Amino acid sequence: MRIDLHTHSTASDGTDTPAELVRNAAAAGLDVVALTDHDTTRGYAEAIAALPEGLTLVTGAELSCRIDGVSMHLLAYLFDPEEPELLAERELVRDDRVPRARGMVAKLQALGVPVTWEQVARIAGDGSVGRPHVATALVELGVVPTVSDAFTEDWLADGGQAYMEKHETDPFEAIRLVKGAGGVTVFAHPGADKRGRTVPEAAIAKMAAAGLDGIEVDHMDHDPETRDRLRGLAADLGLLVTGSSDYHGSRKTVTLGEFRTDPEVYGEITRRATGAFPVPGTGGA
Ligand SMILES: [Zn+2]
Ligand SMILES: [Zn+2]
Repeated sequence: MRIDLHTHSTASDGTDTPAELVRNAAAAGLDVVALTDHDTTRGYAEAIAALPEGLTLVTGAELSCRIDGVSMHLLAYLFDPEEPELLAERELVRDDRVPRARGMVAKLQALGVPVTWEQVARIAGDGSVGRPHVATALVELGVVPTVSDAFTEDWLADGGQAYMEKHETDPFEAIRLVKGAGGVTVFAHPGADKRGRTVPEAAIAKMAAAGLDGIEVDHMDHDPETRDRLRGLAADLGLLVTGSSDYHGSRKTVTLGEFRTDPEVYGEITRRATGAFPVPGTGGA
C-alpha cells in the first residue's frame, strides 16, 4: 500500500484543483491520499466527486499554530468538518489570511520590490491566500529564483524582513479541538528549520502528553540526521511516525508519494479517528 498523508490543492496553496490532485495521486500509484489544505476543508467535495476507483481519500487539514512565538503546522485527520468549535477556529485563522498577505505586500513594496496585491491575488486565485503565493510573486518578478529562496530572513521566513504574523492557534487548544471533533493530530515537519525556528523537544513532549498522536518524520525538509533524531523522539514519546510529500503541485519540486506512511501507522490513524471515515473511490468523473 502506497500512502501519502499530506497534500495541498488550489483550496489553499497547491496548484492542482482537488479533482486534478486525486487523479494525479491515482496516476502516481497511490492507494491512499490525504487532502490537507491549510485551515480549510473546502476541497473535500470536489476531491470526493472525482475520486478514482482504487484510491482512498483521507480528509484532513493542516492547521496554523504557534507556541512561544514559534509557528508550527498541525495535521488533523478524519475530524468532523461540521463540528462547530473547530470550524469557528479555522474561520478565525482563515479570515486573517488576506490582511496578512496584504501586509507582506506592503512590506515588500517598502523594501523596493514592485509587487502588487493584484498580482498576489491573481496567483492565489480561489485558494486561501498564503505566503507561498507571495513567494511565487517574487519568483515571477525575478527577485528570487525559486519559491524556497523566498523563505529566508531577507524575505518571508518567520521573522524575515517582509514577514507578517497571523492569527495562529495554540497547539494544545488545536489538539483539544481536533480530538473534540473526532480527529487525529500529527505535528507536520517538526524539524523543518529552514522555515524559521523549530519547536523544542520538551514542548513536543508536552503535546504528546496532551494527546498529540504523531509526528511527520519523512519529509523533504528533514535531512537524514533530523529524521533519525525525530524517529528516536517518537519512540521515546510513544508517537506515531508518518511520512508524506507535502505536495503543492508545481509550486514545489516534490512529487506525490515521494515520501510515504507505513500501512500499520495508517491503520492506527483510522482506528483512532471517530469524526470521519476514509472515503473509497468509486470511479469519479
Ligand atoms: Zn506545513
Ligand atoms: Zn503542508
